[in-house]
Amino acid sequence: MKGCIFCQIVAGEIPAAKLYEDDRFIVFRDINPLYRVHLLIVPKRHISSVNEVDDAGNEVLHGIFGVARRMAEKEGVSESGYRLVVNAGKDAGQVVMHVHLHLLAGEPLRPL
Ligand code: AMP
Repeated sequence: MKGCIFCQIVAGEIPAAKLYEDDRFIVFRDINPLYRVHLLIVPKRHISSVNEVDDAGNEVLHGIFGVARRMAEKEGVSESGYRLVVNAGKDAGQVVMHVHLHLLAGEPLRPL
């Protein structure tokens, strides 16, 4: 999607601290981390928000929790714990309109 910063990262047009990539997902460190571990798990296909997730979107997102589990293992936080967050829309503070899963960990997280 033209003008989408995460699509530009997927396309390699702008740099990111990439940790993992397969044919469907890319994972990189958040540029403005809220915790010691703050990863973004991003489907390569553009979907702007959870509001746009239809059957095709479900296919695009299929397996995202498996990627999150493996990234938690790689970062060594599976046992200590982690939080997965998806922001949808203005009140949730979604700023990048390309669906993504935040993986937050590495220290005690503030309660929701
Ligand atoms: P959200 O509020 O869920 O839309 O979160 C978007 C996240 O993307 C924020 O935590 C930003 O810090 C992060 N972000 C924005 N631009 C970049 C970038 N170029 N590289 C890595 N993370 C980014």
